[in-house]
Amino acid sequence: MTIGADRATLESLLMTRSLSDPELMAASDAAPDYPILPDASVLKIGGQSLMDRGRSAVYPVVEELARVKREHKLLIGTGGGTRARHVYSVAAELGLPTGVLTGVGAAVAGQNAQMLGYLMARYGVPVVGHEAFSALPLHLAESHAVIFPGMPPYDMWQRVPSEGVIPPYRTDAGCYLVAEVYGCRNMIFVKDEDGLYTANPKTDPGATLIPEITVDELISLDLPDVVVERPLLELMRHARHVRSVQVINGLKPGLITRALAGEHVGTIISAA
Ligand code: ADP
Ligand code: MG
Repeated sequence: MTIGADRATLESLLMTRSLSDPELMAASDAAPDYPILPDASVLKIGGQSLMDRGRSAVYPVVEELARVKREHKLLIGTGGGTRARHVYSVAAELGLPTGVLTGVGAAVAGQNAQMLGYLMARYGVPVVGHEAFSALPLHLAESHAVIFPGMPPYDMWQRVPSEGVIPPYRTDAGCYLVAEVYGCRNMIFVKDEDGLYTANPKTDPGATLIPEITVDELISLDLPDVVVERPLLELMRHARHVRSVQVINGLKPGLITRALAGEHVGTIISAA
């Protein structure tokens, strides 16, 4: 079918069917996906895993980011970390719902974005809130990098989890969704371990590194704990652009540079 015929079909289906009609949904997918910022890479700088470790962890990362932005266009998202966990515990104990926890947790990712922004100001890197994302192309052209708060702006509309009140879509999901929507080249999670292990290496000394795994394999392994937010795996299953992500150790200098160059230096999780 030609694009014109597809369009006529889609238009008539949209006028006559429900928006969840299977034929309509298939027709809406006929056009090839358009990557919006295919040259940009998204990096998530961990909250608990990096920012909360302070100067010894953060300064080398800042310097490496300042160096790599000469060669790469970077969208740098921030995590929440320990202060977000604290505010979740206070709000949960008060009996407040997921939608409230999401808003207060988002503020912490915003604080980390602010602090990282002040550290990177001398390199010309601005902090951009979600409301200003339309200026991303300008900032990338001008300074090759921007910092944004990693929490997705679901606020009180956050999906309620099957158990408990902790927001299921947090900063891993938020950063990933930016990469996917913009059709970015890379999604790199910069944390404090070499990648995904068979268990949390901080509590299980027998844990071994898994260098590469698919989403399906990872789900079927049913690990006690994983290095990324679990809903991320579900998001990846439906990805159009970013079908693999890499988790790397930001405490080891040089790995951000190598991961951006396409090297396998941590754990690659892929949808395929
Ligand atoms: P961030 O600060 O980016 O949000 P998190 O602290 O949420 O990062 O996640 C990273 C942490 O996940 C690691 O520091 C590690 O202790 C923990 N973790 C839990 N399970 C695993 C696993 N299977 N493999 C590696 N790390 C794991
Ligand atoms: Mg986390």
